[in-house]
Amino acid sequence: MKKSRIPTLLLSIVMLLSLAACGQESKSASGPSGEYSTSAKGFGGDVNVTVTLENGVIVAVTAEGPSETAGVGSNAIDQLPDAIVAAGNADVDGVSGATMTSNAIKTAVKKALNEARGTEQEAFDGYTEGTYTGTAQGNNGPLKVEVTVSKDKIESVEVVSNNETALLSVPALERIPSEIVEHQTLTLDAVSGATVTSNAIIAATKNAVLQAGGNMAYLDANAYAPEAGDPIEKDAEVVVVGAGGAGLSAAVTALQNGASVILIEKNATLGGNTLQSGCGWCSVNPEVQGKVETKAGQIETLQSYLELKPADYPAVADVLEVLQGQIRDYLAGDTTYMFDSVELFIFQTYIMGTRTGLDGTTITGNVDLIKTMCTQSEDARQWIYSFDIDEFRNYNTPIGGPWHRSREPQKNETGKNGLPMLQALETYLLNNGAEIMYETRATDLITKKGAVTGVLAKKTDGTPVTLHAKKAVILCTGGYGANSEMVFKHNNYWKDLPDDLLTTNCKTSTGDGITMAEKIGAQLTGMGFVQLMPTSSPVTGDTFKSMIEPYDFIFVDPTGNRFINEMAEGRDTLSAAALSVGSYFYVIMDQQMIDNGNYDQSWYDAKVDAGILVKADTLEELAKKIDVDYNALQKTLNNYNAAVKSGVDSLGKTEMVHTCEVGPFYACPRRPAIHYTMGGITINSNAQVLDTDGNVIKGLYAAGETTGGIHAGNRCGGNAVADIFVFGRIAGKNAASLKK
Ligand SMILES: Cc1cc2nc3c(=O)[nH]c(=O)nc-3n(C[C@H](O)[C@H](O)[C@H](O)COP(=O)(O)OP(=O)(O)OC[C@H]3O[C@@H](n4cnc5c(N)ncnc54)[C@H](O)[C@@H]3O)c2cc1C
Repeated sequence: MKKSRIPTLLLSIVMLLSLAACGQESKSASGPSGEYSTSAKGFGGDVNVTVTLENGVIVAVTAEGPSETAGVGSNAIDQLPDAIVAAGNADVDGVSGATMTSNAIKTAVKKALNEARGTEQEAFDGYTEGTYTGTAQGNNGPLKVEVTVSKDKIESVEVVSNNETALLSVPALERIPSEIVEHQTLTLDAVSGATVTSNAIIAATKNAVLQAGGNMAYLDANAYAPEAGDPIEKDAEVVVVGAGGAGLSAAVTALQNGASVILIEKNATLGGNTLQSGCGWCSVNPEVQGKVETKAGQIETLQSYLELKPADYPAVADVLEVLQGQIRDYLAGDTTYMFDSVELFIFQTYIMGTRTGLDGTTITGNVDLIKTMCTQSEDARQWIYSFDIDEFRNYNTPIGGPWHRSREPQKNETGKNGLPMLQALETYLLNNGAEIMYETRATDLITKKGAVTGVLAKKTDGTPVTLHAKKAVILCTGGYGANSEMVFKHNNYWKDLPDDLLTTNCKTSTGDGITMAEKIGAQLTGMGFVQLMPTSSPVTGDTFKSMIEPYDFIFVDPTGNRFINEMAEGRDTLSAAALSVGSYFYVIMDQQMIDNGNYDQSWYDAKVDAGILVKADTLEELAKKIDVDYNALQKTLNNYNAAVKSGVDSLGKTEMVHTCEVGPFYACPRRPAIHYTMGGITINSNAQVLDTDGNVIKGLYAAGETTGGIHAGNRCGGNAVADIFVFGRIAGKNAASLKK
């Protein structure tokens, strides 16, 4: 691990975002001094804090929570006290994956501050009646509330505008305003999976309430956290854990095969990474692909496969032999339209997954699993059509994919490609008698004589849940991209990973299924291999969202120089190059590139307002704003523009469309972030989980990103979505058919 240096510009972006989100609060110069101890309910039990104040300023915070989960809640105990001291208040971001412990620490600190500042609280003598507007930064831009107060209380909170993510934000948008009014406090738990939206509503309301003469100490005194209910115990034939693409398809298939089903999900809504994703889905359909014109480079690639010796690829020699015959036949005929076959899909998945680790060992994909995925992917897509899903878009080559075989569902008005599929599966479950329990986090597998018989879980309010599975449990909890501790513990691929690596993933991708399965003796595969997304946000980890076309990418390092062919093959090559130039790099764009981009100008302007894009009328002004040497940047762009005109680039980029010379100019700071975790639970092609001796663990199945083996050391673009629906369906069918 190496420490990274966050540049001044990024720090100012971070500050811009956090000030917008939290509102500015100055440290008071006078106030109480002393130590104040309180507690609040965490995940496992009470979390105790002691706050030390000097003249009203927080100078130290200690926290302890003996019942919080080691490696999860303990991260919040370790990290939040220092963050609170640095911020001077408890309005700090929680620690990813440890929301309940984070909230307990923040609530307890607020209680301690109330106790210390009790006299200030008494000074509150009512609001100035009226309706006030407050704004704070949400996930995708500003979120605005209107707050109406009477003399004594907050009468209503209404979110009047927001750009929050469809579906994921709904529970927060509904629940947080009503909880504020009901409990007359802004000290509330964030909704699971919608922390940023929850905190934005709270911050915007705070903003409005302070304008009305509100007193935070008065509101904090009503701090609210829901109480745990009575223990819940239920039975089903099949219990599925995790409501992403794998879990929903497993649950629906189990139901279609006659089993009773309970699906549990730790977030307040479905989706996981499947909802975040572009949902590019690779599958082979020669009939449809055969009408697509052959793409540049495809013939050369096919010819290169004819040079290979099957004996050099023993695990897939049979596949390569058949493939070579297919290629010869194709090249001997009309090559106007493209070629594809299941064998090409299998072979490319296998060779592109092969990687050598830092320890010198080479990892290759499990051929049985690869064959299963590649053979059944198109069937799985046809199955999705049966849920009345919109047509998929035309074939394309996804980022990190080797061939023109990916299609994603039509974008709907939410911009979330996966949403229609996920909602259709959810609706099917609800209409056909399955039970879905949201805000329910599985913690352990129940076993009897070596077989899995159920799941222990907890609701977000702490209510214990026991689920008995008469046939089987299916783990579909996704990857561990949001659990950097797990990534660092197993990393066997990346040199010098920065210790503050962010992720493109949803915050619930913490590898829970892997941890639960390992605890009962499951074998893990490929845990050392993690895929990075080179063009992520250095502030949030968010993806680049296809702002401009890759052929227009110009990457410059902090000294203003290009450092890589921006279209070099593979995310690994770009990520390694980006990590080697330091903590960040910039994508430089001009107005022509933006005009050719994927959104309206207003979308880019909103990104400028949010500090994600830097805009300047001239290149010189841009260089100044991003603290890059102007002469170096100008020379870089002059060389690039000459390369666009001549078609010859010193770094080897072959597809260049626009020069970069028409103002205004834009810069977007970028940095690699964890994107996909190849490792996970070892399964066989029936989706049964194997133990460390290679034997089947009875009653336990797994599917999706929580498993390892198919993608080995590198997951090809568009293959994850194929994987989750194929193996989700296999797991659901086999679990339902299990005789016990
Ligand atoms: C930004 C982005 C873009 C991507 N684009 C593509 C693409 O275009 N094509 C492609 O092939 N792949 C893509 N991927 C990868 C792909 O989307 C994922 O690998 C895939 O969706 C994972 O599906 P899953 O069902 O296994 O897990 P997820 O969809 O992550 O679902 C797992 C669910 O389990 C829940 N969960 C976790 N722990 C627990 C617990 N203890 N108890 C209960 N529930 C739990 C989570 O909250 C989550 O809802 C992308 C990924 C990202 C992040």
